[in-house]
Amino acid sequence: AGHTNGSKESFVKIPEIKFTKLFINGEFVDSISGKTFETISPRTGEVITRVAEGDREDVDLAVKAARDAFDNGPWPRLPGSERRRIMMKYADLVDENAEELAALDTIDAGKLFGLGKALDIPGAAQVLRYYAGAADKIHGETLKMSRELQGYTLREPIGVVGHIIPWNFPTNMFFLKVSPALAAGCTMVVKPAEQTPLSALFHAHLAKQAGIPDGVINVITGFGPTAGAAIGSHMDIDKVSFTGSTEVGRLVMQAAATSNLKAVSLELGGKSPLIIFDDADASQFIVLRLQGEICVAGSRVFVQEGIYDKLVKKLAEKAKTWVVGDPFDPNARQGPQVDKTQFDKILAYIEHGKKEGATLLTGGKPCGEQGYYIEPTIFTNVADNMKIAREEIFGPVMSLMKFKTIDEAIKRANDTRYGLAAGIVTDNLNVANTVSRSIRAGIIWINCYFGFDYDCPYGGYKMSGFGRDMGMNALDMYLHVKSVVTPIYNSPW
Ligand code: ADP
Repeated sequence: AGHTNGSKESFVKIPEIKFTKLFINGEFVDSISGKTFETISPRTGEVITRVAEGDREDVDLAVKAARDAFDNGPWPRLPGSERRRIMMKYADLVDENAEELAALDTIDAGKLFGLGKALDIPGAAQVLRYYAGAADKIHGETLKMSRELQGYTLREPIGVVGHIIPWNFPTNMFFLKVSPALAAGCTMVVKPAEQTPLSALFHAHLAKQAGIPDGVINVITGFGPTAGAAIGSHMDIDKVSFTGSTEVGRLVMQAAATSNLKAVSLELGGKSPLIIFDDADASQFIVLRLQGEICVAGSRVFVQEGIYDKLVKKLAEKAKTWVVGDPFDPNARQGPQVDKTQFDKILAYIEHGKKEGATLLTGGKPCGEQGYYIEPTIFTNVADNMKIAREEIFGPVMSLMKFKTIDEAIKRANDTRYGLAAGIVTDNLNVANTVSRSIRAGIIWINCYFGFDYDCPYGGYKMSGFGRDMGMNALDMYLHVKSVVTPIYNSPW
């Protein structure tokens, strides 16, 4: 794999950092403690800037603002069409600022700039528009009661929502959570990951510009065990929506249970299988698979024995042409890992893989003179019980395993506590149908690994969590159903 030391190159576009404070009730404010923390660029390992460090008392203020905006403010009471109008304006502002937002996620999270500007940021605007279109179509049902009663349901906003989000897709995650909640008429407190706080503050600024009333969206930057935990255990938050690790998801659910039993949805880790059948044409799927793999990271790749050797050879060739480099570099296909902790964790997994006897086909080392870059790493001869085959790695590490029959593939693919996603590569319709119905996972990609769409619900089975982001299902996460019952006739029933 090549590596470009791009930091001195002309394609680098470092944005001016405009927002580094907490966003509470429509204003950027310092944290009560006055504390700040560093956010570090994974491109260089250098400090980008310092950001306000929110803690429990800042979360309290943000919840107070959100509570007031919910109980007394206009947002939940606006006609849906009005919320839609404002959300559409918000989406336009996201589009207009695509370059700057993409650059923020590139310096803060190491996201590829070209991809961000062309796809991720416009995609986030589309998510806003998708849910904006739903804002005036939220309605209940007329019930078929069994007695002389008239019954109907109302769908009402669930209230004040806490969104806790991770670093892997800072802008997309923000809008995946915020958009359906806005459409539903909720108010909210968002805590971005401590590794990637910058774009969320910019999104807060755009919300205000779009005309979203003060207090509807509040952003608290800070750490998980402090600011994050304060959201999980807050007595005045009605629902928490969390995306992150399974361990922390458990803590969030515990905090919800021991505080006010707030509603919880969790989108957690995965160890998604990709199953490649003999009939698939190797030359066609390799690029697709490699790309997806590097994004989704850590998946288990099961390859049927008839094409195993051919595939291994092609992958080794492909990996040599894969450019790891500065995420601003238009030629880079893979940027740095998000921070030193992840970087070290991934390298430790690679060492484990070697120790446990897997064969290192390519990569396995850091690369570049600075920053947190790792070569695309492929292991062959991976056994199902090896650590690299069982735990989520979240890095450019792929594990290849050989299988014989469909039944065997299904059994091994399901042999995991996770159930987020799965991929199948085959041209055989029967195989595709059988396997897609047999895998216990929230999304199955047939010949299109990583095929996301905002109309397509995404979420887990098993220990990958519960609840769905995206699609109309996500709207339900932010709505209560209220039943209203009256007698049909005047007589007392
Ligand atoms: P990852 O492994 O992807 O970094 P984490 O689960 O550690 O995922 O973090 C995801 C989000 O959860 C981040 O915003 C982080 O700050 C937050 N977080 C971490 N610990 C806690 C906690 N105890 N309570 C609530 N949120 C937390």
